[in-house]
Amino acid sequence: MLLFCPTCGNALLIEEASQMRLECPTCPYVFNVNRKIVTRNYPLLKEVDSVLGGEEAWKNVDATDITCPECSHPRAYFRQLQTRSADEPMTIFYRCCNPDCSFNWKD
Ligand SMILES: [Zn+2]
Ligand SMILES: [Zn+2]
Repeated sequence: MLLFCPTCGNALLIEEASQMRLECPTCPYVFNVNRKIVTRNYPLLKEVDSVLGGEEAWKNVDATDITCPECSHPRAYFRQLQTRSADEPMTIFYRCCNPDCSFNWKD
């Protein structure tokens, strides 16, 4: 995009601050471009977490002896959940007891 200053004819420079604007390098002319810069936030939800209801759902659950496929920790929290319809078997979800790992997987 190249625009010229209406008062002196010089090419305007694009200035991108909080709002994009065009400034003349030789005179005080400033053209404000009415455009908001939108930043999108993509929430990084783990797939299993979204099924289970997030971190809160893992409080006060039982742990069992099972090896974490991620860090080989010998224990993991587990929950049984009916994921789809009632005639399908329960799915067992695990979460590694190692707080540095907290890997989620399902049976
Ligand atoms: Zn100018
Ligand atoms: Zn682990």
